[in-house]
Amino acid sequence: MVRTHTDSPSSVRPGGSGFGFKGGRNWIYAKRVAGRFQRLHRASGFVLLAILAVVPWLRVGGLPVLRIDVPARQLFLMGTVFTAADGFNLVLLGLLAAFSLFFFTSLLGRLWCGWFCPQTVFLEEFVRPIELLVEGDRSRRMRRDLGPWTFDRIWRKAVKWSLFAVLAVLVGMAVMGMFAGPRALWTGAAGPMDYALVSVIAVGLFADWAWFREQLCIYLCPYARFQGALTDDHSLVVSYDVARGEPRGKGRQAVLEGHCISCNKCVDVCPQGIDIRDGFQLECINCSRCVDACEDVMGQLGLPSLIRYSTVAEDEGRKTRWVRGRTVAYAALLAVVAGVLVARVATQSPMEVTVNRSPGTLFQQDSDGFVRNTYLVRVTNKDAARTHTYEVWLDGLPAADVIVPDLTLQPLADQTVPLVVRLPAGAVDRTTSFDVAVDDGSEVVRVPATFKAPPRATTGGAP
Ligand code: SF4
Ligand code: SF4
Repeated sequence: MVRTHTDSPSSVRPGGSGFGFKGGRNWIYAKRVAGRFQRLHRASGFVLLAILAVVPWLRVGGLPVLRIDVPARQLFLMGTVFTAADGFNLVLLGLLAAFSLFFFTSLLGRLWCGWFCPQTVFLEEFVRPIELLVEGDRSRRMRRDLGPWTFDRIWRKAVKWSLFAVLAVLVGMAVMGMFAGPRALWTGAAGPMDYALVSVIAVGLFADWAWFREQLCIYLCPYARFQGALTDDHSLVVSYDVARGEPRGKGRQAVLEGHCISCNKCVDVCPQGIDIRDGFQLECINCSRCVDACEDVMGQLGLPSLIRYSTVAEDEGRKTRWVRGRTVAYAALLAVVAGVLVARVATQSPMEVTVNRSPGTLFQQDSDGFVRNTYLVRVTNKDAARTHTYEVWLDGLPAADVIVPDLTLQPLADQTVPLVVRLPAGAVDRTTSFDVAVDDGSEVVRVPATFKAPPRATTGGAP
C-alpha cells in the first residue's frame, strides 16, 4: 500500500488557532537530523548558494559569466554571447539541459530534486535551520502551533518570518542580478521594473518558505510528474530494505525478526511527509534525511541502515546495470548536442548578418533607365571588446551601382541599413542571384540574395 502525502504520520494539522493552515493541508514538522548525508548537503548547499551570490558579479574576458539581457535579447554565458540571431544555438543549449536531466535521472534518480533544486537548497539551508533556531525542534513547534496565540508564539513567528523576508529579498536581488546586473541593482541604478521583479520573486519565495513548501514538489513541479518515465529498475533511489526490515517489531528485541524497530524516525525527519517503508512514492525527493535517521538508529544496534541509496534491481537480488539502452541513448544524444554546440560556438563569426528585401515593391524603374532593388541589411557586432567598421559590397553583380551608408558598430551593437542596388534595365534576367558581402576587415560574411528586374522586352512601371 502506498500511503498518500496527507495520510502521513509525520504530518500534523495544527489546531483551530493555526495561522491559515486549515483545510486539506496537513502541516509537516520535519525533525532535525544529523548524519553524513546531511553534512554533504550542507557543503553542497553552501557551494550552490555561493554560486548564486557570486556568479552575477563574475566576468570572463570582459563579459558577465551569466547574464540574460532581455531588452537587448542577449545571453552571456561563460564568455560567449548568444544574440537573437543565435536561435539554433539557444535551442541546442535547451536540448543540452534537457538531455543532461534525462541522462542523470536515468542513472541517479532524483539527484536534482534532492541535491540541486533551489527549492530543496533553500528549504534545507535557510528555512529549516532558521525554524530550528527560532522555534525549536519538531515536538516543540508542534506543541506551540497546536496551542493558542501566546506572546511566545507570536514573537517567534515574527522573527522567523522576518528572517525569511530578508533572505527572500536577498535571493530576489541575486536572481535579478543575472538580468539587470548586480551593480546596477545594488546602487539603485536599475529600472523600476527590475525592482518590481525583485519584489515579485521575494514575495513568491516568502510564501513558499512560510507556507507552500513541499506542496510545490507534490502539486506544481512538472519534473516530479515525468521523472517516473525516465527511471527504471536500475536507477538509483532512496529505498527501504524490506527483506531485512520486515516484519517490523518494537524495541531492541525486534532485531531478532525484521530489523525495523518501528521507531518512526525516518518518518519524523521526512520533509515530504511520507513513510519510505511504504515503497516508491512520487513525493520522495531523495533528500536522504531518512537515510541518516535510520543510519543513526541502526548504528546504535551495530547494524547497517535499513534505508539507503539502492536500485529496485538490487533490492530484488539482481545486479544493477548502469550501462543500458536508455543511459547509452541519452549519453549519445548529450555528446552529439554538446559537440555540435561547442563546434558552432568555436567557429562562429564575430558578426551576424541578415539580408531582407525592403517591404513593398520587388523592383523600381528609375527615370534614368536603371532598375532598382532595395534591401535591409542587419549587422550585429558580436565582438564584446572592439568597435568594428564594416564594408558592404556585392559578389556576383559587377555592373551594379551600390548605395549603402557607412556602418560602424560599438561592441555587441546592431544596426539595420538600407542597401540600394541599381542595374541598367535589360542588363539582367528577371531574377539574378548574387551575394551581399559584409567585411569587417578580418572576415567576410556572404549572404545570398536575388536581384529582380522586369522581363527584358518590358518597359514601364513597377509591378
Ligand atoms: S528509522 Fe529505520 S528502524 Fe526506525 S522506523 Fe525507520 S526504517 Fe525502522
Ligand atoms: S522518504 Fe526519505 S529521501 Fe524521500 S523525501 Fe522523505 S526523507 Fe527524503
